[in-house]
Amino acid sequence: MKYVDISKIDKLPGRRLGDNDTFSFRCHSRIDCFNLCCRNLNLFLYPYDVIRLKNRLGISSDQFLDKYADIVLRESNFFPEVMLRMSENEEKTCPFLNESGCLVYPDRPDSCRTFPVEQGIFFDEKTKQTRLLHFFRPPDFCLGRHENKVWTSKTWAKDQQSVVYNQMTILWAGLKRMFQTDPFGGQGLNSPEGKMAFMAAYNIDKYRDFVFNSSFLKRYKVKSDVIKKIRIDDAELMKLGFKWIKLYLWGIKTKQIRPKI
Ligand code: SF4
Ligand code: SF4
Repeated sequence: MKYVDISKIDKLPGRRLGDNDTFSFRCHSRIDCFNLCCRNLNLFLYPYDVIRLKNRLGISSDQFLDKYADIVLRESNFFPEVMLRMSENEEKTCPFLNESGCLVYPDRPDSCRTFPVEQGIFFDEKTKQTRLLHFFRPPDFCLGRHENKVWTSKTWAKDQQSVVYNQMTILWAGLKRMFQTDPFGGQGLNSPEGKMAFMAAYNIDKYRDFVFNSSFLKRYKVKSDVIKKIRIDDAELMKLGFKWIKLYLWGIKTKQIRPKI
């Protein structure tokens, strides 16, 4: 997921897919390139990806981040990226790949679902809305592009069950955009604020512990129906976490959460 500079859109690699534009593609286990795309990847994980993967694996978000993720801070960014750590073999295969395919397929990350379509994020200054843009960009080795099944970006998203993922990605992108200026006073993730914001975004089990086993609910007013949901639903807790980060770092109040004082 990258922010797209709309003035340079025609110069970006791949073919931009408008709402009615189509592309041909089919992936299946008998194709010669089967699984070639699941190795040596810079695979960014978004907060919802981590929730789905750690739940599929039956481990905590802490354990997932420790075992499967690299946390990297890109130059001139103030919030880190979380990347899936590839295996330490010659081909640097994805840790979830085996001979028959993807071991976490129903919960595979957003980028794997949309592949070979890539998503870009566009923030419309006029409407103040974040939108996804789509680019058909299969690598040369991907033979699926020679198959004759036809899609639009919308039918592809539906087929890959990525609609919910896309919604969560847009929410995350809206927050991530706010980190274009430094909210941590130059201290980055070493600051208490940086650590807390990272926990709320990516370490959902630890964040739940913080919400329910600290003075959090004494300090913040959270709507009772929201409290009910976040006890049991990681995605709802993640959404509250995004709102809390905005309140905690920038003082932005919402209906769902505000200070008690
Ligand atoms: S390279 Fe393309 S066609 Fe081959 S397995 Fe990957 S997505 Fe499917
Ligand atoms: S998560 Fe699954 S689909 Fe994604 S790279 Fe790994 S094996 Fe491939």
